[in-house]
Amino acid sequence: MLDQELKEQLGEYLKLLENNIVIKVSAGNDDVSQEMVSLINELAALSPKIIIKNETLPRTPSFSVNREGEDTGITFAGVPMGHEFTSLILALLQVSGRAPKIEPELVNRIKAIEGNYLFETYVSLSCHICPEVVQALNAISVLNPNITHTMIDGAVFTEEVESKGILAVPTVYLNGSFFESGRMTIEDIISRLGSKPDINELNKKEPFDVLVIGGGPAGVSAAIYAARKGIRVGIVAQRFGGQILDTLGIENFISVKYTEGPKLAANLEEHAKEYGIDIMKSYRVVNITK
Ligand SMILES: Cc1cc2nc3c(=O)[nH]c(=O)nc-3n(C[C@H](O)[C@H](O)[C@H](O)COP(=O)(O)OP(=O)(O)OC[C@H]3O[C@@H](n4cnc5c(N)ncnc54)[C@H](O)[C@@H]3O)c2cc1C
Repeated sequence: MLDQELKEQLGEYLKLLENNIVIKVSAGNDDVSQEMVSLINELAALSPKIIIKNETLPRTPSFSVNREGEDTGITFAGVPMGHEFTSLILALLQVSGRAPKIEPELVNRIKAIEGNYLFETYVSLSCHICPEVVQALNAISVLNPNITHTMIDGAVFTEEVESKGILAVPTVYLNGSFFESGRMTIEDIISRLGSKPDINELNKKEPFDVLVIGGGPAGVSAAIYAARKGIRVGIVAQRFGGQILDTLGIENFISVKYTEGPKLAANLEEHAKEYGIDIMKSYRVVNITK
């Protein structure tokens, strides 16, 4: 399934696995199961830290990625190739012990979520925004043992897609009921589970000379201009990145021939942080008083 070049690249990534991981495989005799099994065998051949076990999981073909002796609840139903291949590699690394790249405050909020949540995300392998949602939910599952997530390739599980009337991807179900469709960040998801940022942390901050409300291109530009004058600047943004997060290809940002919304948003954040700007995400300003 994997060509030689990809195997070499993957071999390098898999050297980063920190601990053994157990892939539990639920396969039948159908073609997709065979494809899935060959992918997993090829991955296991690239790292001694990958252990394969045969199991019967709720869906076939599917496989779950686990720590030794502990199920993480991350499952891929179908074969996560195409845009989901990165989601698979990240899941392997994170389950093995490499920390997801998430801010510590957010990690604490994820760990503190109480209750049991079973997420299922219907994707198509050619969907550009699906991996963001899959990777967000996988990272949440890695960090909180009460939260599980299954990525489901809608092209393989067509009966489920039809019976649920799913017309767009990604579509996320929570505990068997519709949750949301479309792009979602970790902050969006955990806010919906009742996790709120700790307002006391905000109140502890020193006052800002300039506090920008809004973390889209305009807000970040304003903040960087202000910070360049050497004053103390913060950004409060409900959704850092703003509308560009909903944009795939951007071709009219002069001097940059092509970029993509999420990449531009990450660049904005990196640029703002270089100036020491304090970015407060997932807060909605409801009132301004003098
Ligand atoms: C699908 C799509 C494709 C696009 N494609 C292109 C393109 O190719 N090229 C192009 O030039 N433009 C494109 N645009 C337009 C471009 O994205 C916008 O012009 C740009 O994002 C506007 O930037 P902004 O910072 O003014 O506002 P926004 O991007 O809307 O950002 C607003 C910010 O304010 C925050 N906010 C709002 N209210 C509150 C509150 N009460 N409390 C806290 N925070 C708050 C939001 O969370 C967000 O961070 C596209 C837009 C969309 C939706």
